[in-house]
Amino acid sequence: MIKDKILVTHSSMPPYEEYIEAIRPLWESHWLTNMGQYHQELEERLKEYLGVPNVSLMVNGHMALELAIQAFDFPAGAEVITTPFTFVSTTHAIIRNRLQPVFCDIRLEDGTIDETRIESLITDRTVAIVPVHVYGNVCNVEKIQEIADKYHLKVIYDAAHAFGVTYKGKGIGNYGDVSVFSFHATKVFNTIEGGAAAFSDPGIYEKLADLKNFGIRGEELVTGIGANAKMNEFAAIMGLCNLHHISTYIEERKRRYEIYESGLAKIDGIRLLGQEKDVVRNYSYMPIVVEDGYPVSRDELYNKLKEANIFARKYFYPLTADQDCIRNKCKETELKNARNISERVLTLPFYPTLGIEAIDIILQLIAEK
Ligand SMILES: *Cc1c(COP(=O)(O)O)cnc(C)c1O
Repeated sequence: MIKDKILVTHSSMPPYEEYIEAIRPLWESHWLTNMGQYHQELEERLKEYLGVPNVSLMVNGHMALELAIQAFDFPAGAEVITTPFTFVSTTHAIIRNRLQPVFCDIRLEDGTIDETRIESLITDRTVAIVPVHVYGNVCNVEKIQEIADKYHLKVIYDAAHAFGVTYKGKGIGNYGDVSVFSFHATKVFNTIEGGAAAFSDPGIYEKLADLKNFGIRGEELVTGIGANAKMNEFAAIMGLCNLHHISTYIEERKRRYEIYESGLAKIDGIRLLGQEKDVVRNYSYMPIVVEDGYPVSRDELYNKLKEANIFARKYFYPLTADQDCIRNKCKETELKNARNISERVLTLPFYPTLGIEAIDIILQLIAEK
């Protein structure tokens, strides 16, 4: 039994003094938001780190996704093919844009959208695909682009989990029309709350600038209807500080992932969802699938860990498609793999400072019959 609760995650923070020093200039400038110096600096740093041509910072990942979709001015009621195996934000962003999510099944091996099923879901009302690089696992970006090109669809990736991931040597933010990252406190890289859209078409920058700041173009000029989704300077500075430490955060994650991985390899009925081929990973989560070969169900394992003060999470269960508020709005599609994984998945406690002893205890608990 562990004395202190172990939660699934623990926000990464720079040393206290580093952040305090970094925010000191704000007491001189009194410039706290509205695309200030640190907002601009973080956009530049992120372009370099992510290896993408354009970045637009936002107040959070959800607004980045919602506004990225809005930027394309799709007609109301149009259909968007997406995955139900995700955080609800993805589905909400589609519905809040008055678009119709059409749920596509996922791949059993890594939880990403099953690209072989996308085409059968396309109708004359389909305008976009919104796939998710779930757990930082990379979707089949080539095939998805091929389909998008063939049917003239936009591709907007929810890359909330994929900060720093590269595929075939290229930053993950270079695929699709837009990729959206979340910098929420619980993500690999955080700005407390925050997010960003990455894209190659510079026209999207202008569009998002309007949408995130009320369409304001000048003291007396408003050119469009917009929201307020700007990142403030305290958040941007947190981002700049955390970015100094990002390689350590990811190395520490990798080390812990490998300890889990070798321990779990010895346990029958437990399988991992990670990818290796062509991908440099960010080790954002530690998902396991509790298969039929394991002596107890996912829920029983979840409860057993909970009794030992270890709080794993059932990410992602239920499917967003199975929530009443969403199901009523959607046509029914075949989601066999998504339901299978969703009922068996458990994400274990995982963060850069997680004690190695804690991992050993978790592994023992999972291993004992
Ligand atoms: C975290 C997350 C979001 C939303 O990001 P916020 O910054 O919390 O608004 C969107 N999609 C997925 C898959 C996420 O995990």
